[in-house]
Amino acid sequence: MGQLALEHITKEFGEGENHVVAVDDLDIEIEDGEFLILVGPSGCGKSTTLRMIAGLEQPTSGDIVLDGAPVTQRKPKDRNMAMVFQSYALYPHMTARENMSFGLKMTTEMPADEIDERVRNASELMGIEGLLEKKPGELSGGQQQRVALGRAIVRDPEVFLMDEPLSNLDAKLRTTMRTELQDLQQDLDVTTIYVTHDQTEAMTMGDRIAILNDGELQQIGTPAECYQEPANQFVAGFIGSPSMNFFDVALGGGELSTDDFAVTLPESIESALAGHNSEFVLGIRPEEILSGEEAVEHPDSFSVEVNVVEPLGDVTYLYTEFGGSEVTISVDRNTEIKPGDQVTIALPAAEIHVFDRETGNSIV
Ligand code: ATP
Repeated sequence: MGQLALEHITKEFGEGENHVVAVDDLDIEIEDGEFLILVGPSGCGKSTTLRMIAGLEQPTSGDIVLDGAPVTQRKPKDRNMAMVFQSYALYPHMTARENMSFGLKMTTEMPADEIDERVRNASELMGIEGLLEKKPGELSGGQQQRVALGRAIVRDPEVFLMDEPLSNLDAKLRTTMRTELQDLQQDLDVTTIYVTHDQTEAMTMGDRIAILNDGELQQIGTPAECYQEPANQFVAGFIGSPSMNFFDVALGGGELSTDDFAVTLPESIESALAGHNSEFVLGIRPEEILSGEEAVEHPDSFSVEVNVVEPLGDVTYLYTEFGGSEVTISVDRNTEIKPGDQVTIALPAAEIHVFDRETGNSIV
Protein backbone atom coordinates (compact mmCIF):
# COMPACT_ATOMS: atom_id res chain seq x y z
CA MET A 1 0.00 0.00 0.00
CA GLY A 2 1.07 3.58 -0.44
CA GLN A 3 -1.93 5.85 -0.09
CA LEU A 4 -0.70 9.23 1.00
CA ALA A 5 -2.66 12.24 2.24
CA LEU A 6 -1.33 15.71 2.89
CA GLU A 7 -3.86 17.13 5.30
CA HIS A 8 -3.83 20.92 5.39
CA ILE A 9 -0.06 21.12 5.73
CA THR A 10 1.49 24.53 6.21
CA LYS A 11 5.18 25.37 6.59
CA GLU A 12 6.39 28.73 7.80
CA PHE A 13 10.02 29.82 8.05
CA GLY A 14 11.57 32.78 9.90
CA GLU A 15 10.05 35.59 11.90
CA GLY A 16 9.25 39.27 11.47
CA GLU A 17 10.66 40.59 8.23
CA ASN A 18 12.03 37.14 7.34
CA HIS A 19 8.72 35.36 7.81
CA VAL A 20 7.80 33.18 4.80
CA VAL A 21 4.82 30.90 4.30
CA ALA A 22 6.59 28.34 2.08
CA VAL A 23 3.60 25.97 1.92
CA ASP A 24 0.11 27.22 2.61
CA ASP A 25 -2.66 24.81 3.69
CA LEU A 26 -1.87 22.13 1.14
CA ASP A 27 -4.54 19.43 1.01
CA ILE A 28 -3.88 16.59 -1.44
CA GLU A 29 -4.74 12.88 -1.59
CA ILE A 30 -2.46 10.61 -3.58
CA GLU A 31 -3.70 7.18 -4.55
CA ASP A 32 -1.71 3.99 -4.06
CA GLY A 33 0.53 3.53 -7.12
CA GLU A 34 -0.20 7.02 -8.44
CA PHE A 35 2.51 9.10 -10.15
CA LEU A 36 1.94 12.69 -9.02
CA ILE A 37 3.95 15.55 -10.44
CA LEU A 38 4.48 18.60 -8.25
CA VAL A 39 5.22 21.59 -10.42
CA GLY A 40 5.52 25.35 -10.10
CA PRO A 41 7.95 28.25 -10.43
CA SER A 42 11.10 28.59 -8.37
CA GLY A 43 10.32 29.22 -4.70
CA CYS A 44 6.69 28.02 -4.86
CA GLY A 45 7.25 25.41 -2.14
CA LYS A 46 7.81 22.19 -4.12
CA SER A 47 10.96 21.04 -2.33
CA THR A 48 9.64 22.03 1.08
CA THR A 49 6.54 19.92 0.44
CA LEU A 50 8.63 16.92 -0.58
CA ARG A 51 10.96 17.38 2.40
CA MET A 52 7.97 17.45 4.77
CA ILE A 53 6.64 14.20 3.27
CA ALA A 54 10.09 12.63 3.68
CA GLY A 55 10.33 13.87 7.27
CA LEU A 56 13.35 16.11 6.60
CA GLU A 57 11.23 19.12 7.55
CA GLN A 58 8.47 19.33 10.17
CA PRO A 59 5.18 21.03 9.10
CA THR A 60 4.15 24.08 11.14
CA SER A 61 0.64 22.62 11.07
CA GLY A 62 -1.23 19.81 9.35
CA ASP A 63 -0.62 16.09 9.03
CA ILE A 64 0.99 13.65 6.63
CA VAL A 65 -0.97 10.41 6.58
CA LEU A 66 0.29 7.17 5.04
CA ASP A 67 -2.26 4.36 4.60
CA GLY A 68 -4.54 5.97 7.16
CA ALA A 69 -1.86 6.46 9.86
CA PRO A 70 -0.31 9.86 10.63
CA VAL A 71 3.47 9.74 10.05
CA THR A 72 4.12 13.43 10.76
CA GLN A 73 6.01 12.68 13.97
CA ARG A 74 7.99 9.73 12.57
CA LYS A 75 11.67 9.99 11.71
CA PRO A 76 12.56 9.83 7.98
CA LYS A 77 13.91 6.27 8.31
CA ASP A 78 10.64 5.07 9.85
CA ARG A 79 8.41 6.34 7.03
CA ASN A 80 9.13 3.66 4.44
CA MET A 81 9.75 6.26 1.76
CA ALA A 82 12.82 6.65 -0.46
CA MET A 83 14.01 9.98 -1.79
CA VAL A 84 16.01 10.63 -4.97
CA PHE A 85 17.78 13.97 -5.23
CA GLN A 86 18.85 16.14 -8.16
CA SER A 87 22.44 15.97 -6.92
CA TYR A 88 22.30 12.12 -6.65
CA ALA A 89 23.70 12.42 -3.09
CA LEU A 90 25.89 9.31 -3.41
CA TYR A 91 28.74 8.66 -0.97
CA PRO A 92 31.90 9.37 -3.02
CA HIS A 93 34.16 6.92 -1.16
CA MET A 94 31.78 3.97 -1.59
CA THR A 95 31.26 1.79 -4.65
CA ALA A 96 27.89 1.72 -6.40
CA ARG A 97 27.15 -1.59 -4.63
CA GLU A 98 28.02 -0.12 -1.22
CA ASN A 99 25.97 3.00 -1.93
CA MET A 100 22.97 0.84 -2.75
CA SER A 101 23.26 -1.48 0.24
CA PHE A 102 24.40 1.03 2.89
CA GLY A 103 20.91 2.26 3.89
CA LEU A 104 19.58 -1.27 4.40
CA LYS A 105 22.65 -2.31 6.39
CA MET A 106 22.39 0.72 8.67
CA THR A 107 18.65 0.89 9.27
CA THR A 108 17.45 -2.73 9.12
CA GLU A 109 18.39 -6.14 10.47
CA MET A 110 18.16 -7.59 6.99
CA PRO A 111 20.48 -10.58 6.38
CA ALA A 112 23.41 -9.88 4.04
CA ASP A 113 22.30 -12.38 1.39
CA GLU A 114 18.88 -10.72 1.12
CA ILE A 115 20.52 -7.32 0.75
CA ASP A 116 22.77 -8.77 -2.00
CA GLU A 117 19.73 -10.19 -3.74
CA ARG A 118 17.93 -6.82 -3.64
CA VAL A 119 20.99 -4.97 -4.95
CA ARG A 120 21.26 -7.52 -7.76
CA ASN A 121 17.59 -7.11 -8.72
CA ALA A 122 17.68 -3.32 -8.56
CA SER A 123 20.89 -3.11 -10.57
CA GLU A 124 19.35 -5.36 -13.26
CA LEU A 125 16.29 -3.11 -13.35
CA MET A 126 18.49 -0.04 -13.77
CA GLY A 127 20.92 -1.74 -16.19
CA ILE A 128 23.97 -1.08 -13.99
CA GLU A 129 25.09 -4.65 -13.20
CA GLY A 130 28.49 -3.93 -14.72
CA LEU A 131 29.08 -0.79 -12.66
CA LEU A 132 28.61 -2.10 -9.13
CA GLU A 133 32.30 -2.03 -8.17
CA LYS A 134 32.84 1.52 -9.43
CA LYS A 135 32.84 4.64 -7.28
CA PRO A 136 30.66 7.67 -8.18
CA GLY A 137 33.72 9.58 -9.48
CA GLU A 138 34.21 6.88 -12.11
CA LEU A 139 30.60 7.11 -13.35
CA SER A 140 28.85 9.55 -15.71
CA GLY A 141 25.99 11.71 -14.42
CA GLY A 142 23.43 9.39 -15.97
CA GLN A 143 25.07 6.33 -14.41
CA GLN A 144 25.23 8.03 -11.01
CA GLN A 145 21.55 8.82 -11.23
CA ARG A 146 20.83 5.16 -12.05
CA VAL A 147 22.75 4.14 -8.93
CA ALA A 148 20.77 6.70 -6.90
CA LEU A 149 17.52 5.27 -8.28
CA GLY A 150 18.78 1.74 -7.62
CA ARG A 151 19.49 2.74 -4.02
CA ALA A 152 15.87 3.94 -3.69
CA ILE A 153 14.52 0.73 -5.25
CA VAL A 154 16.42 -1.67 -2.94
CA ARG A 155 14.58 -0.20 0.02
CA ASP A 156 11.28 -1.42 -1.51
CA PRO A 157 9.52 1.69 -0.18
CA GLU A 158 5.82 2.48 -0.16
CA VAL A 159 6.53 5.91 -1.63
CA PHE A 160 9.22 7.31 -3.94
CA LEU A 161 9.99 11.00 -3.52
CA MET A 162 11.94 12.51 -6.39
CA ASP A 163 13.30 16.06 -6.39
CA GLU A 164 14.17 17.06 -9.97
CA PRO A 165 16.11 13.80 -10.45
CA LEU A 166 16.84 14.39 -14.14
CA SER A 167 17.72 18.06 -14.18
CA ASN A 168 21.52 17.56 -14.03
CA LEU A 169 21.49 15.35 -17.14
CA ASP A 170 21.94 16.61 -20.69
CA ALA A 171 18.83 17.04 -22.84
CA LYS A 172 19.14 13.77 -24.76
CA LEU A 173 19.78 11.62 -21.70
CA ARG A 174 16.95 13.38 -19.89
CA THR A 175 14.53 12.32 -22.63
CA THR A 176 15.65 8.67 -22.41
CA MET A 177 15.57 8.61 -18.61
CA ARG A 178 12.12 10.22 -18.61
CA THR A 179 10.62 7.27 -20.46
CA GLU A 180 12.63 4.76 -18.43
CA LEU A 181 11.50 6.26 -15.16
CA GLN A 182 7.88 6.20 -16.29
CA ASP A 183 8.16 2.52 -17.27
CA LEU A 184 9.92 1.72 -14.01
CA GLN A 185 7.23 3.48 -11.98
CA GLN A 186 4.53 1.52 -13.79
CA ASP A 187 6.33 -1.80 -13.37
CA LEU A 188 7.02 -1.27 -9.67
CA ASP A 189 3.61 0.35 -9.11
CA VAL A 190 4.97 2.43 -6.23
CA THR A 191 3.30 5.72 -5.28
CA THR A 192 5.59 8.43 -6.60
CA ILE A 193 5.76 12.16 -6.01
CA TYR A 194 8.01 13.86 -8.49
CA VAL A 195 9.06 17.50 -8.25
CA THR A 196 10.03 19.34 -11.42
CA HIS A 197 9.86 22.70 -13.07
CA ASP A 198 10.25 21.11 -16.50
CA GLN A 199 7.14 21.52 -18.67
CA THR A 200 7.68 18.34 -20.65
CA GLU A 201 8.21 16.21 -17.55
CA ALA A 202 5.06 17.70 -16.02
CA MET A 203 2.93 17.09 -19.10
CA THR A 204 4.16 13.61 -20.00
CA MET A 205 5.26 11.66 -16.93
CA GLY A 206 2.55 11.66 -14.31
CA ASP A 207 -1.03 10.51 -13.80
CA ARG A 208 -1.86 13.91 -12.30
CA ILE A 209 -0.12 17.26 -11.87
CA ALA A 210 -0.39 19.47 -8.78
CA ILE A 211 0.48 23.07 -9.65
CA LEU A 212 1.76 25.29 -6.84
CA ASN A 213 2.31 29.02 -6.72
CA ASP A 214 3.40 31.01 -3.64
CA GLY A 215 2.93 27.90 -1.50
CA GLU A 216 -0.70 27.49 -2.56
CA LEU A 217 -2.23 24.71 -4.63
CA GLN A 218 -3.58 26.23 -7.84
CA GLN A 219 -5.00 23.10 -9.46
CA ILE A 220 -4.65 19.35 -9.35
CA GLY A 221 -5.72 17.18 -12.27
CA THR A 222 -4.59 15.14 -15.25
CA PRO A 223 -2.20 16.92 -17.61
CA ALA A 224 -5.03 17.20 -20.17
CA GLU A 225 -7.42 18.75 -17.62
CA CYS A 226 -4.86 21.32 -16.49
CA TYR A 227 -4.03 22.17 -20.11
CA GLN A 228 -7.57 22.30 -21.47
CA GLU A 229 -9.44 23.58 -18.44
CA PRO A 230 -7.01 25.67 -16.39
CA ALA A 231 -8.57 26.78 -13.11
CA ASN A 232 -7.06 30.24 -13.35
CA GLN A 233 -4.79 32.53 -15.33
CA PHE A 234 -1.70 31.36 -13.45
CA VAL A 235 -2.21 27.71 -14.45
CA ALA A 236 -3.14 28.75 -18.00
CA GLY A 237 0.13 30.68 -18.30
CA PHE A 238 2.29 28.09 -16.56
CA ILE A 239 1.12 24.89 -18.29
CA GLY A 240 1.89 24.77 -22.01
CA SER A 241 4.96 25.87 -23.88
CA PRO A 242 5.15 28.43 -25.37
CA SER A 243 2.73 30.08 -22.95
CA MET A 244 -0.84 31.07 -23.59
CA ASN A 245 -1.24 34.64 -24.90
CA PHE A 246 -3.23 37.04 -22.71
CA PHE A 247 -5.05 40.32 -23.53
CA ASP A 248 -6.89 42.79 -21.34
CA VAL A 249 -10.24 43.03 -23.12
CA ALA A 250 -13.51 44.96 -22.84
CA LEU A 251 -16.94 43.35 -23.14
CA GLY A 252 -19.61 45.12 -25.24
CA GLY A 253 -21.89 44.62 -28.24
CA GLY A 254 -21.51 40.86 -28.08
CA GLU A 255 -17.73 41.11 -28.44
CA LEU A 256 -14.56 40.98 -26.40
CA SER A 257 -12.26 43.60 -27.84
CA THR A 258 -9.04 45.59 -27.62
CA ASP A 259 -8.11 48.59 -29.79
CA ASP A 260 -6.68 46.15 -32.35
CA PHE A 261 -9.17 43.31 -32.60
CA ALA A 262 -12.56 41.98 -31.61
CA VAL A 263 -13.79 38.46 -30.99
CA THR A 264 -17.49 37.94 -31.74
CA LEU A 265 -18.91 35.86 -28.93
CA PRO A 266 -21.34 32.99 -29.29
CA GLU A 267 -24.43 33.14 -27.09
CA SER A 268 -22.97 30.61 -24.64
CA ILE A 269 -19.88 32.71 -23.80
CA GLU A 270 -21.84 35.96 -23.76
CA SER A 271 -24.26 34.63 -21.19
CA ALA A 272 -21.43 33.14 -19.10
CA LEU A 273 -19.79 36.58 -18.95
CA ALA A 274 -23.01 38.54 -18.49
CA GLY A 275 -23.30 37.66 -14.79
CA HIS A 276 -19.79 38.97 -14.04
CA ASN A 277 -19.51 42.51 -12.89
CA SER A 278 -15.80 42.65 -13.69
CA GLU A 279 -13.08 43.20 -16.20
CA PHE A 280 -11.78 40.31 -18.28
CA VAL A 281 -8.59 38.80 -19.61
CA LEU A 282 -8.81 36.83 -22.84
CA GLY A 283 -6.40 33.92 -23.25
CA ILE A 284 -5.55 31.95 -26.38
CA ARG A 285 -2.78 29.42 -27.00
CA PRO A 286 -0.26 30.04 -29.81
CA GLU A 287 -1.50 26.98 -31.73
CA GLU A 288 -5.16 28.11 -31.64
CA ILE A 289 -4.62 31.42 -33.44
CA LEU A 290 -5.69 31.10 -37.07
CA SER A 291 -3.37 32.40 -39.78
CA GLY A 292 -3.20 32.30 -43.56
CA GLU A 293 -6.24 31.22 -45.58
CA GLU A 294 -8.16 29.95 -42.58
CA ALA A 295 -7.89 33.41 -41.03
CA VAL A 296 -8.82 35.33 -44.20
CA GLU A 297 -12.15 33.51 -44.29
CA HIS A 298 -12.87 34.30 -40.64
CA PRO A 299 -15.25 37.25 -39.98
CA ASP A 300 -13.05 38.56 -37.11
CA SER A 301 -9.78 38.50 -39.06
CA PHE A 302 -7.24 41.32 -38.84
CA SER A 303 -3.68 41.99 -39.91
CA VAL A 304 -0.49 42.16 -37.80
CA GLU A 305 3.19 42.73 -38.51
CA VAL A 306 5.56 39.88 -37.68
CA ASN A 307 8.63 40.87 -35.63
CA VAL A 308 10.50 37.58 -35.29
CA VAL A 309 10.23 34.19 -37.02
CA GLU A 310 11.55 31.18 -35.12
CA PRO A 311 11.69 27.90 -37.10
CA LEU A 312 12.12 24.98 -34.68
CA GLY A 313 11.97 22.14 -37.18
CA ASP A 314 8.58 20.62 -36.43
CA VAL A 315 6.84 23.97 -35.93
CA THR A 316 7.55 27.66 -36.52
CA TYR A 317 6.70 30.43 -34.07
CA LEU A 318 5.89 33.99 -35.10
CA TYR A 319 6.41 36.72 -32.53
CA THR A 320 4.33 39.87 -32.89
CA GLU A 321 2.66 42.53 -30.80
CA PHE A 322 -0.99 43.58 -30.74
CA GLY A 323 -3.86 44.24 -28.35
CA GLY A 324 -1.34 45.61 -25.83
CA SER A 325 0.52 42.28 -25.53
CA GLU A 326 3.47 40.41 -26.96
CA VAL A 327 2.01 37.48 -28.84
CA THR A 328 3.31 34.10 -30.01
CA ILE A 329 1.60 32.40 -32.97
CA SER A 330 2.36 28.85 -33.99
CA VAL A 331 2.32 28.21 -37.76
CA ASP A 332 3.19 25.44 -40.20
CA ARG A 333 6.91 24.63 -40.30
CA ASN A 334 6.96 25.23 -44.07
CA THR A 335 5.83 28.84 -43.78
CA GLU A 336 7.53 31.45 -45.95
CA ILE A 337 6.63 34.31 -43.64
CA LYS A 338 9.58 36.65 -42.90
CA PRO A 339 10.14 39.30 -40.23
CA GLY A 340 8.39 42.52 -41.28
CA ASP A 341 5.62 40.70 -43.21
CA GLN A 342 1.97 41.48 -42.57
CA VAL A 343 -0.08 38.37 -41.77
CA THR A 344 -3.82 37.94 -41.47
CA ILE A 345 -4.87 36.23 -38.28
CA ALA A 346 -8.03 35.56 -36.26
CA LEU A 347 -8.78 34.46 -32.71
CA PRO A 348 -11.57 31.86 -32.97
CA ALA A 349 -14.14 32.27 -30.17
CA ALA A 350 -14.38 28.50 -29.67
CA GLU A 351 -10.74 28.37 -28.54
CA ILE A 352 -10.57 31.34 -26.18
CA HIS A 353 -10.34 31.25 -22.40
CA VAL A 354 -11.70 34.13 -20.34
CA PHE A 355 -10.47 35.02 -16.86
CA ASP A 356 -11.66 37.47 -14.22
CA ARG A 357 -9.00 40.18 -14.32
CA GLU A 358 -9.15 40.79 -10.58
CA THR A 359 -9.15 37.24 -9.18
CA GLY A 360 -7.53 35.52 -12.18
CA ASN A 361 -10.15 32.76 -11.94
CA SER A 362 -11.28 31.06 -15.09
CA ILE A 363 -14.79 31.94 -16.29
CA VAL A 364 -14.87 30.34 -19.75
P1 ATP B 1 13.08 25.72 -6.47
O1 ATP B 1 12.33 25.25 -7.70
O2 ATP B 1 13.85 26.98 -6.71
O3 ATP B 1 13.86 24.63 -5.81
P2 ATP B 1 10.86 25.35 -4.63
O4 ATP B 1 9.53 25.46 -5.29
O5 ATP B 1 11.35 23.98 -4.35
O6 ATP B 1 11.94 26.19 -5.42
P3 ATP B 1 11.21 25.79 -1.81
O7 ATP B 1 12.66 25.46 -1.83
O8 ATP B 1 10.28 24.80 -1.23
O9 ATP B 1 10.71 26.17 -3.27
O10 ATP B 1 11.04 27.18 -1.06
C1 ATP B 1 9.78 27.80 -0.80
C2 ATP B 1 9.99 29.09 -0.03
O11 ATP B 1 10.46 28.79 1.28
C3 ATP B 1 11.02 30.03 -0.64
O12 ATP B 1 10.57 31.34 -0.45
C4 ATP B 1 12.27 29.73 0.17
O13 ATP B 1 13.10 30.87 0.21
C5 ATP B 1 11.70 29.42 1.54
N1 ATP B 1 12.54 28.48 2.29
C6 ATP B 1 12.79 27.18 1.96
N2 ATP B 1 13.59 26.59 2.88
C7 ATP B 1 13.84 27.54 3.82
C8 ATP B 1 14.61 27.57 5.05
N3 ATP B 1 15.23 26.47 5.50
N4 ATP B 1 14.65 28.72 5.73
C9 ATP B 1 13.99 29.82 5.31
N5 ATP B 1 13.25 29.87 4.17
C10 ATP B 1 13.17 28.76 3.43
